[in-house]
Amino acid sequence: MDNQSKTIINNLPSSATKAAWIKENIKQPILIITSHTKDATEISQYLLADLFPSPDTIPGEEFAPEKELVAERVQVLSDVPRVVVAPLKAVMWKTFDKLKIKKSKLKINIGDNLDIEKLVSKLIKLGYKRQEIVGERGEFAVRGGIVDIFHYEPVRIEFFGDKVESIRIFDAQTQLSVNKIESFDLLPIVESGNSSFFEHLAEDTIIFLDEPMQLKIVAEQEGYFSYMELIEQTKNFKIIVNTSFEEGIKIDLSKLPVFSLKKKKTAKEGINRSLLLELKDGDYVVHENYGIGLYRGMHKMEIDQVEQEYLLLEYAQNDQLYVPLQQMGLVEKYSGNPFPKIYRLHGKEWKKTRSKVKKSLQVLTKDLLFLYAIRNKTRGYAFPGDLQAQNELAITFPYEETKDQEKAIKDVMSDMESDKPMDRLVCGDVGYGKTEVAIRAAFKAATSGKQVAVLSPTTILAQQHYATFCDRLKNYPVKIEVLSRFKHKNEQKKIIEKIPTGEIDILIGTHRLLSKDIHFKDLGLLIVDEEQRFGVTHKEKLKQLRKNVDVITLTATPIPRTLYFSLSGARDMSLINTAPVDRLPIRTHVVAWNNDLIKEVILRELDRGGQVYFVHNRVQTIDTVAKRIRKLVPDVKIAIGHGQMQEDKLAKIMTDFQEKKYDILVCTTIIESGLDIPNVNTMIIDHAECFGLAQLYQLRGRVGRSSNRAYSYLLYHKEEVLKEEALKRLKAIQEFTELGSGYRLALRDLEIRGSGTLLGARQSGHIVSVGFDMYCDMLEEAVKKAKGIEEPSARQVVVDLKISAFIPNDYIHDERQRVATYRRLTLLDNRQKFKEMKEEMEDRYGEIPKPLKQLFDIVDIKIKAQEKGIKLIKEEKYKIVIEWFDGKHKAYKIKAADTLEKVLRIKSLF
Ligand code: ADP
Repeated sequence: MDNQSKTIINNLPSSATKAAWIKENIKQPILIITSHTKDATEISQYLLADLFPSPDTIPGEEFAPEKELVAERVQVLSDVPRVVVAPLKAVMWKTFDKLKIKKSKLKINIGDNLDIEKLVSKLIKLGYKRQEIVGERGEFAVRGGIVDIFHYEPVRIEFFGDKVESIRIFDAQTQLSVNKIESFDLLPIVESGNSSFFEHLAEDTIIFLDEPMQLKIVAEQEGYFSYMELIEQTKNFKIIVNTSFEEGIKIDLSKLPVFSLKKKKTAKEGINRSLLLELKDGDYVVHENYGIGLYRGMHKMEIDQVEQEYLLLEYAQNDQLYVPLQQMGLVEKYSGNPFPKIYRLHGKEWKKTRSKVKKSLQVLTKDLLFLYAIRNKTRGYAFPGDLQAQNELAITFPYEETKDQEKAIKDVMSDMESDKPMDRLVCGDVGYGKTEVAIRAAFKAATSGKQVAVLSPTTILAQQHYATFCDRLKNYPVKIEVLSRFKHKNEQKKIIEKIPTGEIDILIGTHRLLSKDIHFKDLGLLIVDEEQRFGVTHKEKLKQLRKNVDVITLTATPIPRTLYFSLSGARDMSLINTAPVDRLPIRTHVVAWNNDLIKEVILRELDRGGQVYFVHNRVQTIDTVAKRIRKLVPDVKIAIGHGQMQEDKLAKIMTDFQEKKYDILVCTTIIESGLDIPNVNTMIIDHAECFGLAQLYQLRGRVGRSSNRAYSYLLYHKEEVLKEEALKRLKAIQEFTELGSGYRLALRDLEIRGSGTLLGARQSGHIVSVGFDMYCDMLEEAVKKAKGIEEPSARQVVVDLKISAFIPNDYIHDERQRVATYRRLTLLDNRQKFKEMKEEMEDRYGEIPKPLKQLFDIVDIKIKAQEKGIKLIKEEKYKIVIEWFDGKHKAYKIKAADTLEKVLRIKSLF
């Protein structure tokens, strides 16, 4: 070999490059062991190699390991790939013996004969949990001849009798199949055994130990296995250690392969809630014509030889109401108050309530539309912008925009291009990517020669925006400044002087920007972050500004999509409801204070390169607690933050923490509505029993803002006897997963509150009196009416025919799913959705049975009726009565030999 082109591997920048070289140049199987999860993850991404993760459990912790991780481990164990990257802890963890995993594996091919009952018992034996809908790894569901199994990927097996007819991968979010496969290996989802991982490796495997000194330190720190054990277990393998290289292997740099990190992360839609809509016996519901009552299940009834299913509602004094399928759109689940008043079935009171709300909504929508009309008449500035530069900026965004984000950007751009003044609200949870929307708009304004003001509620947030804006726009001649208390008086003065001259393009700051001494040369765009946190005077000032500059308001207040749909048309808003990355539910544990556990939890987070919040909500004792933690993890950098500190000092600590100058922030609840730091993924809450459920929920939401699994530990102190109620509350939050009903209830609560903030106090009262969903329906109709749109909505159209139409119990067994499906069917309002829903049914539940086919026929008629402005189609003796929305009605005589013919004839009537 030519010595000139060889370089010693140690000169290369990181172990990742060395690993890459080894992967390309050594043909044997390779295992790369790193000291920390963070390095293993980075290397595996860089090499596009499999990661063998460490289980997240902590020795002594009573919780089962994460199924996510078990699935990844088992996948590797069942068929070890040529290159595996693993952190030390992962390989030292005891696992299956080799034979056992071979024995428990079951290969399923198309054409195989397999008894579903036997498959179910096998699944249970392998550790799977039976659910109605499969959403996470380790779950399975059976619906007639269809079995869904989620191990590494969600797989759907369709049987015909005992024969496997088709195997498909499906998407857990939408529950729809994505592609067909020929076979798949059913693997266990629990890991048990007392064997070493190394037993699973091929004899000729080469082990690459990344930084052995570090490995040794980690082994000592963890304390439950020793470095000697590693040496012992690997003694029969060939080992390459980083420093043994200097004399040994030399690398031809020119032959180094080029790997690139996958840069763009793809977005994932949140769980499709309509799939999960829950209605259980005893739930409160509200019927548009009769008011609030209790849901009492579904009931099949046969009338005149026609079989249909009905919702049974119970009203005061045990009055009962059977609601036929085709009127299900008039019934909504009630939420807004945990114990609402139940109405009399035919009382007058409900009508009064309803008309009061209706009137108020008329006023509200009239006001909104009035403002809208004024803006339509006012002339604003139409931003031309530099399209090429805008595209360039879009390309430099390191992620794939989420669907909602893309829509929001488009909305804002077209608002700016029109000559009407913009007043758009952009709603989205913290961390969902609103800032990027603001940046694109600010850039457009700046490149059109206008100035931009970005208004934040706090110094810290202003500082964060400043950093993000500078970073995103660094390649452009756009001058950005921040006016904050971090700046010296003199510096502030200099900035203020540069505003009227137009030297500054984008100015970021708190309400300081609204002071009298700030004079813009040519302000074209104002971006307001969290307007509700500004005081009355500032809001008044903003109102004045709105008249002639374009305004974008950002808010993290949760607004549900239903309200958004109802309001759109009266208020310009964009909703960002999709989380940017593949976010996992937060794992929550309720435990008594335990030194070892706290230490392990902290070390686990630092192992993957993350940071920790430790919430202790008493300023008097916060220093003592911080000391206790420092004693547990002496080498870790700890900062303290609380609201009684000077704002500047606190802000400095927060920014330093964000810049990873500290590992742990011991703090009060100040973090509740503060910075978004995606790198913090463990939160320990001390004296958790002192918090309310909603507050715990909100606090906990500070973690889990990246694709890393987040953990929260709710601590109570053993010496204090917990009140039963407090413990119940804590347990409730422990069970909070995105699929859980508790979670949805809390979220719903926040959404209702958020909607109240958006619409005002009076409307909050109305939301409670008719329930949130009914309120949204009424709002939508009020907006339509105010705009003079006389078109009926799907839920108001009734098609009442003497045709047996229902979903057989053996087709969709779970009643909640059946109700949800009925509702979706009755609310279908266009052909495309109709077609998709039919396909979805076949995919998820198998071939559509006759009564459901007939139900689809009715829905088909209904969609056509709605298009034609018809509100009622009713079958009476030998005739069909049709009633239009404008009051017209007609009756037709029809004769048909069977149902199919009847359907065709009815369709030809209008
Ligand atoms: P918000 O302003 O809504 O609170 P940010 O705009 O600050 O949220 O975004 C939070 C984090 O998510 C940032 O680190 C940002 O870079 C990242 N992010 C934004 N949009 C996306 C996306 N489409 N995909 C992945 N990450 C994103």
